[in-house]
Amino acid sequence: MFGFLKKVGDYTKEAVSAAQYLGQGLAVTFDHLKRRPITVQYPYEKLIPSERYRGRIHFEFDKCIACEVCVRVCPINLPVVDWVMNKATKKKELRNYSIDFGVCIFCGNCVEYCPTNCLSMTEEYELAAFDRHSLNYDNVALGRLPTSVTSDPAVFALRELAYLPKGVMEPHGVPANAPRAGRLPEQVLATLAQSSAATTTEQTASNPTAANPTAADQGAQS
Ligand code: SF4
Ligand code: SF4
Repeated sequence: MFGFLKKVGDYTKEAVSAAQYLGQGLAVTFDHLKRRPITVQYPYEKLIPSERYRGRIHFEFDKCIACEVCVRVCPINLPVVDWVMNKATKKKELRNYSIDFGVCIFCGNCVEYCPTNCLSMTEEYELAAFDRHSLNYDNVALGRLPTSVTSDPAVFALRELAYLPKGVMEPHGVPANAPRAGRLPEQVLATLAQSSAATTTEQTASNPTAANPTAADQGAQS
C-alpha cells in the first residue's frame, strides 16, 4: 500500500513539473506571437554580427612562427603552412600560409591555440564565390582587414533582437547610442575583474600570512 501511494505521489510530481515546462514553453511562443515580421533589406541593410561571431579568419604574416600548431589542432588539418629552414639562423622561415574556406568549418580551434595570436576570427561572412577554388585564401587574402557592417557608409546597420534595448522588437529607428539589453563583453570582463579583486582582498584580510608570507615562513618552506 505504501509503495503504491509513493508511486502515485511521484507520478503527480512529474505531471506537475511537465505542466510547468509546457507552460514555460508556451509562454515563449505566445510572447513571439506579439511580434511582427521584420524585413532586413539586404544588402542595403545588414544585421550587426554578435561580438563572438566566427567569420572569415584574419592572419598576420609577420607574427607567424610556422610552428604548425594550427594544423595539428584543426579537425581536418586544413591550414597549409609553407616554410623553409634557414640554416644560417637555424629558424623556420614562412613562405606562404593558406586556409581553404570552402572546407573550413569555422570551429576556431586554430585561433584559440595559435601561440602568437596571429590568427583571429572576424565578423566577415560574405564569402560566396562562383569558383570554389577562389575560397582558398593565401596569406595576402587572409591578411586583408575585414569589412565591418557598422563602419560601412553604404550599409544601414541593424541590431539583432538580442542587442536591442529592453522591450524593443523593431531595430529600424533605434539610435546607435541606445542602451542595449545585455552587457558588452568588456563590461562583463570588468565585473569579473572587480569580483576577483574583491575576493583576493577578502582572502588577504582573513588570512594575511597566506597572502604575505614572512621571511621566517619562507625560510621554513625552503
Ligand atoms: S599556430 Fe599560429 S604561429 Fe603557428 S603556424 Fe599556425 S598561424 Fe603560424
Ligand atoms: S577554424 Fe577550425 S576548421 Fe577552420 S582552419 Fe581553423 S581549426 Fe581548421
